[in-house]
Amino acid sequence: MVTLTGDFKVQSKEIGFSLVFGHFPRVQNVAQVKQFLETQLSDALGMLRRMVDINSYTANIDGVNHLAEVTAEYFAPLGFETQFVPSKFPKYGKHLVMRRPGKSCRNIALISHLDTVFPPEEEERNNFHWLVEGDRIYGPGTHDIKGGTVMMWLVLKALQTQCPEVFEMITWQLLWNSSEEQFSPDFGEVCRTRFNADTIGALVFEAEGRLADEGLLVLARKGRGTWRATIEGRGAHAGGKHHQGANAIVQAGFVAQKIAALTDYTRALTFNVATITGGTVLNRVPHQAVIEGEFRAFTPDVFEDARKKLIALSGPGEVRSKMDGYACQVKVQVLSESRPWPRNAATDRLFQFWLEGGKRVGIPISYEERGGLSDGNMIWDAVPTLDGLGPWGDNDHCSERSADGSKVPEYVAASSFVPKALVNVEAIWSLVNSQR
Ligand SMILES: [Zn+2]
Repeated sequence: MVTLTGDFKVQSKEIGFSLVFGHFPRVQNVAQVKQFLETQLSDALGMLRRMVDINSYTANIDGVNHLAEVTAEYFAPLGFETQFVPSKFPKYGKHLVMRRPGKSCRNIALISHLDTVFPPEEEERNNFHWLVEGDRIYGPGTHDIKGGTVMMWLVLKALQTQCPEVFEMITWQLLWNSSEEQFSPDFGEVCRTRFNADTIGALVFEAEGRLADEGLLVLARKGRGTWRATIEGRGAHAGGKHHQGANAIVQAGFVAQKIAALTDYTRALTFNVATITGGTVLNRVPHQAVIEGEFRAFTPDVFEDARKKLIALSGPGEVRSKMDGYACQVKVQVLSESRPWPRNAATDRLFQFWLEGGKRVGIPISYEERGGLSDGNMIWDAVPTLDGLGPWGDNDHCSERSADGSKVPEYVAASSFVPKALVNVEAIWSLVNSQR
């Protein structure tokens, strides 16, 4: 038995630890599944277009809620019941949860999000809308992550029609975060309360990475902490009483250097000093300055160590008044923390099904450990979690296009849907069959 941290335990037999890869029969007719997926592609892209046309910037509550309804409309015909779960934070829209009970209580969760990072004004200003050019489909959320939601639909539709035994046996849970881009922590709870010992996998449909022609799935993600350093100095007249002052901005300069120096690439630990403000008018020695930023690390121990070193910078600074030695005071606070998702055995085991599934259908699959966060960070220690199951594209979070081609906005590659859906179907099929 393998015990995962948290309240959840997973029996080894339930996730097929002892299986011998390559001994499973493949999905009965790969060519037929592929052909089926090809016939569904135009419907899938029609769905994607409708979703992309709805602005679902995280702060646009109406847009996010509208997208949730439209999304539910597409998945309901596959036999799913819909539940809208209000966010704990009134500034965000509702999470969407859909469920289809199977013949067994073994369940698989498919996870995506509703929101994007693009305010409607920015989409207008940059004329950033649905646009097809060759294989590329540009538009807000095409890649992050509406393309992933459409991938979920393609995979479920193919399982329903091509592998009905698997589709009917599993209890499916589909979960969409309304506010993933702001990393609102309550969605983790929404997921975790729906997981149990029969959850054999949580599949996150963020976009895949690429290295040459290999599709890269995500097996680990950095955690992120945000911080603020507040420096209190002593104000003074910059002409007559300069020596009385303790300059908060000069102190902030020292603090910024010390924080930047905590970056340690050998441990994949980065600190970013991101903003600095301070002072008021030119004839005052500034009495206050504020620096803010973030840090990221892959493993809980490096993350915790970084946090301690950061907080330890609090206390009296080296910048003092010439008059009486009055020292600037430095206060460092961690504002928010999103835990790392480190490499772990349960994720690695789940990945084997995709690695071997890719080989069986002739699509090269590999993996990466990614710096950015996803909902995977909030659930990996509850159930075996795998990420990067969406289609391929690039330039997520970018809405600009420049004439010289140096800036290109977010797009998804239309040709990446069918092959990736095929790998996903094959892998899910073998995951489920490994436990019969
Ligand atoms: Zn995303």
